[in-house]
Amino acid sequence: MKENIDDLTVFGGTPSFQEPLHVGRPNLGDRERLFERINDMLDRKWLSNNGPYVQELEQRISELIGVKHCIAMCNGTVALEIAIRSLELKGEVILPSFTFVATAHALQWQEITPVFCDIDPKTHTIDPACIEKMITPRTTGIIGVHLWGRPCDIVALEKIADTHHLKLLFDAAHGFGCSYKGRMLGSFGNAEVFSFHPTKFFNSCEGGAIVTNDDALAAKIRLMKNFGFSGYDNVIYIGTNGKMNEMSALMGLTNLESMADFIAVNYENYKSYQRGLDSLAGISLINYDQKEKCNYQYILLEIDESVTHVNRDQLVDILRAENILARRYFYPGCHRMEPYRSYFPNAGLMLPETERLVKRVLSFPTGTAVGPDEISKICQITRLAVQYGPEVKKRLSGYAANETTKSMVFEGFAV
Ligand SMILES: *Cc1c(COP(=O)(O)O)cnc(C)c1O
Repeated sequence: MKENIDDLTVFGGTPSFQEPLHVGRPNLGDRERLFERINDMLDRKWLSNNGPYVQELEQRISELIGVKHCIAMCNGTVALEIAIRSLELKGEVILPSFTFVATAHALQWQEITPVFCDIDPKTHTIDPACIEKMITPRTTGIIGVHLWGRPCDIVALEKIADTHHLKLLFDAAHGFGCSYKGRMLGSFGNAEVFSFHPTKFFNSCEGGAIVTNDDALAAKIRLMKNFGFSGYDNVIYIGTNGKMNEMSALMGLTNLESMADFIAVNYENYKSYQRGLDSLAGISLINYDQKEKCNYQYILLEIDESVTHVNRDQLVDILRAENILARRYFYPGCHRMEPYRSYFPNAGLMLPETERLVKRVLSFPTGTAVGPDEISKICQITRLAVQYGPEVKKRLSGYAANETTKSMVFEGFAV
């Protein structure tokens, strides 16, 4: 245990961990079941094109969510693009800037203008009160993002969408296994989109899905994700290749069977962080509504620099030196990334809460790869850095200020 600040690796101590601790190591289900299914697939020689494992996964997910249609896709981004296209969104679409950049890219990719809206600082999701002032005659839809698995204010968004005749889509990339007013995320708005990327709570190596209760929309999406084929040699629509393959589907099916275990681990980790950071002034841990279902996949902290003195970036540097790879999700906000920052250089003026939040948040390691012992060490280091904040800050000024930014660029998002 490190007890004074000289023990911190940034000040010459030895790193707390030999191996890097990542924010999101994949949650993996039963290996034997996985190999059985792989053998089965190889015997059958059916690798893609709506195979039996894809059909089974779609069926299981529809049941789990309580939604009529689930269309499995090759990844969450293509699923978003197809959902956007199937809803015939065009012109301008309102979405939060505080999200993973794919939400914005999925619009811009098809030359639809993303209009960035501010968030509610308490929930980190799009603030309904800010949406109405962003609506113009060109607006066709709203995309809400259930960030960290915490649902958007869905009732308020539905009301705005109704009043202004806008389509309502949800990016539910973080929301698999979570509920809103007792109903699973995935069945709200015109459609919702999941990502099954390895960093997400539930993965299929790569993958995603569109879920909807709209029969006509589901039929259209099925055509679009398969080049518009409605039968042999009969193309009736413009389409692309959004199909999920059998390997991904069987990975998904296997992981789905362990979902309760993953949630239990994440929940225990969340509780460990709660205990470890309890009453540490200036640090607040993400709050999940215990009345709802939740996957507890994100251990998100907010740092109030006016209390801690050390700022978020310094804390990231301190933790990284210890081999704790905390991440600045989602820094710096989509509106400060290209091409958006060139297109809309003043977007930040409308996004005061986003601008404030992106400098305060960081994400801590969790998932099946960490347990109570690691978490207790992580919390101890955080405490040390924060409790001796003024001194740490003074000694750190000048310390490799560019180190974090540099490694962010090379690291990318995959872990
Ligand atoms: C991961 C993610 C996506 C993209 O999903 P992929 O499966 O990686 O393409 C979209 N939106 C959000 C909010 C995400 O976190």
